[in-house]
Amino acid sequence: MRALFGWQGRGEGRRRATAYAWHEEATAALQQLAVTDGLTGLLNRRGAMEQAELAFAMARRHHEPLAVILLDLDHFKRINDTLGHETGDKVLQLTAEQLRLSLRQTDLSCRWGGEEFLVVLRHCDQKQAVEVDARLRTLLQRAGQMQLSSPVSFSSGLALLQDANTDLDALLRRADTALYEAKRSGRGRLCISATG
Ligand code: GH3
Ligand code: MG
Ligand code: MG
Repeated sequence: MRALFGWQGRGEGRRRATAYAWHEEATAALQQLAVTDGLTGLLNRRGAMEQAELAFAMARRHHEPLAVILLDLDHFKRINDTLGHETGDKVLQLTAEQLRLSLRQTDLSCRWGGEEFLVVLRHCDQKQAVEVDARLRTLLQRAGQMQLSSPVSFSSGLALLQDANTDLDALLRRADTALYEAKRSGRGRLCISATG
């Protein structure tokens, strides 16, 4: 009898452990889902903000360089209108793929919204950030041409952390202003924010 209860006890323990492990796994999967963009698999804005805040705080504390690039696909509405929404989706996925290929593991990229993406480059100065932007531009143009028979171009705004930027929003606003300038001055280019 005792042996039987003992066995049942162990069985119950095992069942509980399995249920607990399953619960843990399900919670982690849900948490991951909440910070992931469904179409591209990149971080969504919420997920990126959590990590960008951390990168920003570390860079300020240790006086390390930090660069952010906001990029927006050019005439994306035209791609949807002429090639169809499905091809538009493929362009977004292609952009995400090229972002993953051109960034280091410690860098951060996210789908900021619609056809806009955010890149956060840790320990990165202006020269390196300009190189990252140029590499991505070439990769995307080439991949678009090869896989979708359509060149894909983007405009981007770069801002480098300055002492005056006491919060992440200030840095992002500078990148956004530079992006606006890139659009205004002809698209398909990078503009760099000069001021704090
Ligand atoms: P600009 O060069 O000034 O950025 O022009 P644009 O056409 O890229 O910008 P606009 O803001 O006029 O249009 C953005 C379009 O992006 C409109 C919207 O329907 C499309 N879009 C947003 N999210 C998605 C998506 O998930 N899939 C697809 N296929 N299109 C999307
Ligand atoms: Mg846009
Ligand atoms: Mg656009």
